[in-house]
Amino acid sequence: MSKTAALTHPADTQAPRAEVAIVGAGLVGGTLACALAGHGIKTVLIDRLDPTTMSAPTFDGRASAIALSARRFLNAIGLWEHVAASEPIREIRVSDGASPFFLHYDHSEIGSDPLGSMAENRHLRGAIAAKMRDLGDTLTVITPASVASLAQTADTITLTLEDGRTVTAALAVSAEGRNAALRDLAGIKVTGWTYPQVAIVATIGHERSHDGIAHERFLPAGPFAILPLPDDNGVHRSSLVWTERADTAASYLALPDAEFLSEIGERVGGFLGALSLIGPRFSHPLGLQFAAQYSAGRLVLVGDAAHGIHPIAGQGLNLGFRDVAALTEIIIDARQLGLDLAHPEGLARYQRWRRTDNLVMAGVTDVLNRLFSNDIAPVRLARDVGLGIVNRIPPLKKLLMRHAMGTVGDLPRLMR
Ligand SMILES: Cc1cc2nc3c(=O)[nH]c(=O)nc-3n(C[C@H](O)[C@H](O)[C@H](O)COP(=O)(O)OP(=O)(O)OC[C@H]3O[C@@H](n4cnc5c(N)ncnc54)[C@H](O)[C@@H]3O)c2cc1C
Repeated sequence: MSKTAALTHPADTQAPRAEVAIVGAGLVGGTLACALAGHGIKTVLIDRLDPTTMSAPTFDGRASAIALSARRFLNAIGLWEHVAASEPIREIRVSDGASPFFLHYDHSEIGSDPLGSMAENRHLRGAIAAKMRDLGDTLTVITPASVASLAQTADTITLTLEDGRTVTAALAVSAEGRNAALRDLAGIKVTGWTYPQVAIVATIGHERSHDGIAHERFLPAGPFAILPLPDDNGVHRSSLVWTERADTAASYLALPDAEFLSEIGERVGGFLGALSLIGPRFSHPLGLQFAAQYSAGRLVLVGDAAHGIHPIAGQGLNLGFRDVAALTEIIIDARQLGLDLAHPEGLARYQRWRRTDNLVMAGVTDVLNRLFSNDIAPVRLARDVGLGIVNRIPPLKKLLMRHAMGTVGDLPRLMR
């Protein structure tokens, strides 16, 4: 990933100008860098981690459900063709413990496109790295490097790295994830709370095919998702996101392999046949947070730096991709019109466009998690009846399917 750095040393008098400087080369920042540089915008991308660390199989064992609209966007910017392997999600089955009520989404009820695609995060990172190699001098990647301070003038924003070097741009983007330092340096406030839950992530092998079906089971400690992955060397595989109470998750994570697998087996049930554990286990504390504003002067937020949500609906990264598609559109339009890339109307439009959508999704995931992660009998009855009703009202079900596919709402051009 690393290329020659467009940097100045403290002794240099003239800082080279990037049009956009992005801090954070995760899935959101890396994708934004590809989208902008692919449209000829001179971009600098900075991350504190070495790219070899980020692409190691032990770095991020998650797989992401990519909504149809997000896949269209990744396709439009030439990233999707570099994703080494993915699995179409043809159906989603949502059930509440052992209740007979369920919700079943089948892509064939609304067309031929799958509801989404599952891709391992390591393959998404690999695709970003591969695309970056095609982008030539339009993109400069600086790793490992952290930003120590930022300073803004009427026309520029300058990031000073911890080793004293500087990067100057018209617009800086914080794609630093939940603990975004630039967001805090710029004085943008964040509201949020932690959930008393941890997501345990593991990849399993199984005897029988998943048939492209994603399962979400609501158990008292939280949702348990079984998400279809492509076969690997003839082994059927799925990615598990097992939400557990924070006070008991550590004891599950510490179990020997056979016992850990047996706990998984109890929650999966027998439909996949014999199970095996592939690779290490991962755990993620869960919380919800949202930034009070999406820009401050020439700094703008994207992805988890702007909004971190519960993974119950597999939408956090999809929202980040929508931020990226919207911001790319605004930047390209500004450039075509000869405007400042950080012109206030453009950044105000970005905030109006993205913040409401992100807040609605944050609210929906929060309510779903509170409603389903308990075993209170009247609540269970109400939600089960709700699942059953939605399943029997085709127009409502189709609308919810389109929401899951990300094809509803005011979509950026690159997602249509
Ligand atoms: C268990 C789980 C399952 C999920 N499943 C899904 C799913 O199926 N679908 C979906 O859409 N979403 C899913 N999500 C959400 C999704 O993973 C996140 O929304 C997404 O990864 C956020 O990406 P990001 O690039 O914004 O942030 P991050 O991944 O946090 O990346 C931030 C980057 O910034 C760098 N950085 C941070 N600070 C600095 C600094 N000061 N200087 C330099 N570099 C810095 C970091 O090194 C890192 O590379 C899931 C989340 C969890 C926890």
